[in-house]
Amino acid sequence: MDKALEKLIVVTGAGGFIGGSLVARLRERGHRRIRAVDLKPLGEWHQKFGDVENLVLDLNLKPNCDAAARGASEIYNLAANMGGMGFIENNKALCMLSVLINTHMLQAAAGQKVERFFYASSACVYNGDKQTSFEAPSLKEEDAYPAMPEDGYGWEKLFSERMCRHFREDFGLYTRVARFHNVYGPWGTWDGGREKAPAAICRKVIEAKLSGRHEIEIWGSGEQTRSFMYIDDCLQGIDLLMNSGILEPINLGSCEAVTINQLVDLAEGFAGIKLQRKYNLNAPKGVNGRNSDNTLIQKLLHWEPNTPLKVGLERTYRWIHDQYVAREKAAAFSSAAGSNTAQTGSKAR
Ligand code: NAD
Repeated sequence: MDKALEKLIVVTGAGGFIGGSLVARLRERGHRRIRAVDLKPLGEWHQKFGDVENLVLDLNLKPNCDAAARGASEIYNLAANMGGMGFIENNKALCMLSVLINTHMLQAAAGQKVERFFYASSACVYNGDKQTSFEAPSLKEEDAYPAMPEDGYGWEKLFSERMCRHFREDFGLYTRVARFHNVYGPWGTWDGGREKAPAAICRKVIEAKLSGRHEIEIWGSGEQTRSFMYIDDCLQGIDLLMNSGILEPINLGSCEAVTINQLVDLAEGFAGIKLQRKYNLNAPKGVNGRNSDNTLIQKLLHWEPNTPLKVGLERTYRWIHDQYVAREKAAAFSSAAGSNTAQTGSKAR
């Protein structure tokens, strides 16, 4: 047995989208000792596995971070309070409180002499002045400074990036930091207010198709540009980066920029319908344009995220479709069961 597969790997935020997918990937690669940690009750985890040590802990608290890090060789810190623009624009304090998670996890990792520590940063660290054009400006790593990141969420990420750097410099902790650009895929949040644009648009198109109301609300003018990275690319990038000598934060994102309107075009294509578009200019919409400049990752890793949006989005659309239909069926079943119980109850009286 390969000794590396016996080392204890800790994934925080494992009840969420990327953390859960990372646990799945580590299992597939033969890792035997995985500790998955999240704040949410186990029943709410996106994915969970019986052969993994699953812990429900609030990682805002240092003693819980110590418990999570105990005996670990590697830590992947993916726990954070986050969501799409609708969430981060309205929950800035909550987003900034994630600083407690990363600070305490770094302290715990240094205290436990953990071999490697990964931190998930975000494209939201980039200076807002460089993202005013709708022409999808490609953001290079140095564009994070002078600092003017996304209010709340972006400031926390930028601060935590620097904290990783200083723990490396001052305490010798091996840290690696990726700036994710919009990750999407099966098992992602698709409803409830924290979902991001690809999942939200797929869900709205599915709702329109199944309800027969052929219209869709789009946040903003639809001309905002973004790039979206498929989950498999994200996981591959995390692995390559964790095992590389790259010390500074690096972009991990697709460079295939599209407008939100083009995203809707794609989802309509999968559904085989055309929708009446209603633009809500008052809704949260984020910066006008953003793309990932992949010069550095290509140079250093000879690789970049490369799943075409059309391919990844179609898989995601099909997965959300199945979730949506299953949820509707369950709701219909429980309301039928409820009305049967009510009828039985009224007969008994
Ligand atoms: P997610 O919301 O699906 O998962 C995050 C998980 O962290 C959740 O399950 C949540 O319950 C958990 N968490 C929150 N507070 C916690 C606490 N106090 N203690 C323990 N667990 C806690 O998000 P995701 O999409 O999987 O994102 C993972 C990481 O990647 C986050 O740091 C996020 O900021 C970063 N990121 C994600 C994207 C993206 O597009 N998904 C983009 C940029 C950066």
